[in-house]
Amino acid sequence: MMREKGRDKPEECECPKCQFTVPKQAGLSCGSRMCPKCGTTMLNKRSTG
Ligand SMILES: [Zn+2]
Repeated sequence: MMREKGRDKPEECECPKCQFTVPKQAGLSCGSRMCPKCGTTMLNKRSTG
């Protein structure tokens, strides 16, 4: 078993408009990032679901 360190924060941000995803940057919340493709504010992406 691998032990990943980290909490339950998202690892990716997703654009709600075009579903483009980007890796989450440390210190930057998804809500403060914009989609590089369409410029829409991005949202946290859930890894499961
Ligand atoms: Zn987009």
